[in-house]
Amino acid sequence: MVGPSTSVLSPAGNNQKSVLVSGASFAGLATAYWMTKLGYRVTVVELASDLRRGGTPVDIEGETIEILSRMGMMDAVSAKALPPRDVEFKDEKDATLGGLKATARSDDISAEQYEIHRDDLLDILFGAVEGSVEMRFERSLTKLEDRPAGVAATFNDGSKEEYALVFGCDGNRSTTRKLVFDDANSSSYFMGGYFYLRVVEETGMVPANTSQIFSVPGLTAMLNGYDDRTDIALAFRADHPIEYGYRDKAQQRRLIHDHFDVLGWKVPAMLNHIDKDGDFYFDAASQIRMKSWSKGRIALVGDAGYCVSPVAGLGGSMALIGAARLADALRRHPTDYAVAFNEYECKLRPFVEGVQKRAATNRLLKKGLAVGVAP
Ligand SMILES: Cc1cc2nc3c(=O)[nH]c(=O)nc-3n(C[C@H](O)[C@H](O)[C@H](O)COP(=O)(O)OP(=O)(O)OC[C@H]3O[C@@H](n4cnc5c(N)ncnc54)[C@H](O)[C@@H]3O)c2cc1C
Repeated sequence: MVGPSTSVLSPAGNNQKSVLVSGASFAGLATAYWMTKLGYRVTVVELASDLRRGGTPVDIEGETIEILSRMGMMDAVSAKALPPRDVEFKDEKDATLGGLKATARSDDISAEQYEIHRDDLLDILFGAVEGSVEMRFERSLTKLEDRPAGVAATFNDGSKEEYALVFGCDGNRSTTRKLVFDDANSSSYFMGGYFYLRVVEETGMVPANTSQIFSVPGLTAMLNGYDDRTDIALAFRADHPIEYGYRDKAQQRRLIHDHFDVLGWKVPAMLNHIDKDGDFYFDAASQIRMKSWSKGRIALVGDAGYCVSPVAGLGGSMALIGAARLADALRRHPTDYAVAFNEYECKLRPFVEGVQKRAATNRLLKKGLAVGVAP
């Protein structure tokens, strides 16, 4: 829980307008954007050597549209919006069992909705902060000490610095969360499956602007086709969490082979890409549920604090909404981070918990058909 009220802009120290953001994906870049608007000097550390690319497209609708408009990014987003896709359900011989035809966008403003490649949204967010925040790649936190005048941060290169506030935006395996919060505060809720996502430049595996899905109980393979690339998504069901090295890519590839080598349809062609070099995303379908999203001068945003899981299909939106709500609260309480953090959490928590509950009771997930790869 948040502690007693404390002034961010208390006198001593020259760190009082510096904030640290851990993680440079949607939550991190959006938080960095808003903190610069609030007048903070922002440093972003990212473990990877560059922005982590790949992944299936992100839906932009409702409050996310309003937030991206406030950020001045909606024109760029709508310019990159993807055309609607047909969805086809396939059997092992590639016969179409059923499907959904792409529908043209509605003129109804309340139904306004866009889909955009994850990489395009990352580029738009990065473009908005590049030059105004200090980006440090291949850098990660190893220690955080919350002191009365600021947070002392130690990094993986041994360097140390002090910040007024620290924001953990480092995803559902958040290092910030592990360094700051004890196990009693946070839990990872395993949703019974794992998923693999990779975007390849090759086209032709599937027609452009089409999603094809092949499913047998417990295993789902999906291809999203575009003019210039293809998303490869594979998901398998597991009754219990599997022990594997989170950073061990070879082991993750083996896990995918162990489950999918038996499958027909276009899966062998999909598996050919798995052994090639290049980044991919592999993780459990899981949610992060915490009793509190902040402690002292440190707050979590996005998957780090309240991952809703890919099953919810709202992870990107949740990160953007979280960053904006946090900034709104800090704008309303510029001299009292504790009150701001409390407000951020109290106002956003009911929405997050509603989304988490709906995802956890997802009918497809319960049947073990699809994990996190809904088109
Ligand atoms: C490469 C990739 C592909 C994805 N593809 C999909 C997808 O297809 N479908 C889907 O539903 N979700 C996907 N996700 C997750 C999705 O991006 C998030 O659920 C959502 O956008 C919330 O964003 P986030 O910024 O909170 O977390 P994330 O997007 O997970 O970003 C966390 C960031 O923190 C960085 N990081 C991790 N540890 C550290 C550390 N110790 N120090 C510094 N930085 C660190 C990561 O490299 C990453 O850049 C993907 C994530 C990644 C990274």
